[in-house]
Amino acid sequence: MPFRQLVGHRHLFELLSGAATRGTLPPSLLFAGPDGVGKRAAAIALAQLLNCPERVEVPAPAGSSRGARSKSSGAAMVDACGTCPVCRRIARGVHADVMELKPGETGSIKIEQVREAIERAGYRPFEGRRRVIIIDDAEALVEPAQDALLKTLEEPPPTGIFVLVTALPDTLLPTVRSRCQRVRFGRLSPEEITEVLVRDHGYRDPEARAAASAADGSIARALAEGSAEFTGARDAALALLSGVVASPDPAARLGLAKDLAATGGGRGAAEREALARRLRALASLLRDLEVLSARADGRWLANGDLAVGLEALRRSFNGERVLAAFAAVDRALDALERNASPKIVADWVTIAM
Ligand SMILES: [Zn+2]
Repeated sequence: MPFRQLVGHRHLFELLSGAATRGTLPPSLLFAGPDGVGKRAAAIALAQLLNCPERVEVPAPAGSSRGARSKSSGAAMVDACGTCPVCRRIARGVHADVMELKPGETGSIKIEQVREAIERAGYRPFEGRRRVIIIDDAEALVEPAQDALLKTLEEPPPTGIFVLVTALPDTLLPTVRSRCQRVRFGRLSPEEITEVLVRDHGYRDPEARAAASAADGSIARALAEGSAEFTGARDAALALLSGVVASPDPAARLGLAKDLAATGGGRGAAEREALARRLRALASLLRDLEVLSARADGRWLANGDLAVGLEALRRSFNGERVLAAFAAVDRALDALERNASPKIVADWVTIAM
C-alpha cells in the first residue's frame, strides 16, 4: 500500500516522500517504534515510491472531525501510484529489486542472509530504480550479521537503500544505530486503529472501537486482544468453508448451515448479531482466499494466523467461486439487516458457497 493508504504518521511520510523525491534520502534508515504501528508497511510504501514509474501527487489531508489524522505540514505529498505492475509486484513481495529479510525458524537473522542481501544490494537494479533491502525485526540480527552490515550501512552501493525495522532499536549494536538515520514511529490513535480494523479486518465500528481502546496504540495488539467473540466467529466461518469443500452435495450442507446459525443460544437481536459476526468473518476469509488465488504473497493476509487452513482451501475457492461466495455473503448480511430469519439466511448462504 502506498503512503496515503496507511493510517497515521502522515508527517513522517511527508518527510520520507520529500527526501525520496529530492534524492536526499539517507541510504540507511532505521524505522523504530512500537510493534504494530505500521513500520514495515511504511518500508514497503517507501520501496514503492522509490520504484514506481507513475507517481502521483496527494493533496494534504483535509482536517478530520474525529481528529484521527496525524499532523501534516499541509503540503501535497508525492506518493507511489499503488496500482501499476511495479507497485503491485512490490506489494506482493515478488519485485526483483525489493528484498526483505526476516528472522528464520531459529528466531534470528543469520550472517548468511545478510551477506546475500549485501551482495544483491550491490547489483544494478533489474527492473526498478532503487534496490531496497528491508530488514524486518532487525533486533533479531545476530551480532556477526550486524558486524557484516556495518561497512555497507556506512557506504551503501549508490542504487541501494537499507531500511532496518525494529521495535527494539536499543538492542542493536551502537555502531549499527549510529550509521542509520532513525525514523521514529509513534503510537496510533484509537481512531486510526478503528479505521484499520474496520477497513482491513472485517470489524464493525463498535467492536473496532472497543478493541482499539484497549490496544495501546498498536494494531497488532488490537488484533491479538480481539474479543473471544471475534475469534469464535472466525473459527466458525473457517469450519463452514472447510465443510463446504468436503460436501459438494447441497442437501448435505444443511447440517453445516445449522452449525453456522447455532450461535450459543442467543435469541432475537443477539442471535442476529452473532450470525452477522460470523458472516463478516466469512467475508474476511474470502477476501484472503482471493488474495491467495491471485498468487499474491501470503504475508498480506488479514487472517495471516490462519494461513495454513486458508491455503488448504485455496484450490477449491479460487477465481470466480471466491467472488461469487463473497457476493453471497454480502447479500446474506443485507438480508439479515432487513430482518430475514437467521436460519433462512444461514441455509441460503451455505448453499450459495
Ligand atoms: Zn506504481
